[in-house]
Amino acid sequence: MPITADEWYDPDPDLRNLNQGDVLDGIPLVYAPDKQVRWVLLRPLPQGALDDARAGLPRTFKANVEGGFPSAWEREDGELVMASAAVCRVQILSRSCNLDWKKHIQVAPVYSIEGIGAEALESLRENDNAFSFYLPPDGDAMPESYADISLKATVHVSYLRRTDHLVRRLTSRAQLALQEVLSEYYAKPFGFDVKDHVPQTALYRCANCFFVGGPNCPMSEIDANQNFPPCPLCKEQALWVKVPRE
Ligand SMILES: [Zn+2]
Repeated sequence: MPITADEWYDPDPDLRNLNQGDVLDGIPLVYAPDKQVRWVLLRPLPQGALDDARAGLPRTFKANVEGGFPSAWEREDGELVMASAAVCRVQILSRSCNLDWKKHIQVAPVYSIEGIGAEALESLRENDNAFSFYLPPDGDAMPESYADISLKATVHVSYLRRTDHLVRRLTSRAQLALQEVLSEYYAKPFGFDVKDHVPQTALYRCANCFFVGGPNCPMSEIDANQNFPPCPLCKEQALWVKVPRE
């Protein structure tokens, strides 16, 4: 079943606060150039504190690639640099409870699905893509889109205080789906399964049994040079984690 706007978007969002998953317009994102593209440093003329140059509109700058300034990157107040910036549609990734007190908030740029191949689109629509969160179409303001989590950026919370930029808010069901995508992206359960080779003879314990919350499977010493065995309790679901020897 395709994901629909009805199940994904809150029809009556409370505008007093922003939430994790909110889609907002008008957030500037700055991207540093690739390392292959040389950094261009901007030195205010006449030479002075960078704060002065940041505070007012600069009069003159000397621009040069980093190799062109012998003292590149040595200033304690940093360098002014050329970088690309764009005002974007974004989705808030930080948890709602952090939005009130954290100074820096994680957001991901939101792009329309235009130009995505049929196969990638299929997994995107199922929300089965580790780098993206799917956003179904909902009228003119919300074309079919996705948030690209791999391009996550950090913005100062002051950009996010205005709820008049809110395009859509997720339902609690969709918020849960976002949290699942994020935990897959950041915290894929670590461990070895039965398809993995044992890298080292050591004590191992099954983390799957631990996370599922049933009885704890006993530690076992597993020899290297074979595949990991099934867990005595959860069998093929085993997720073996090395345990330090006391
Ligand atoms: Zn187990």
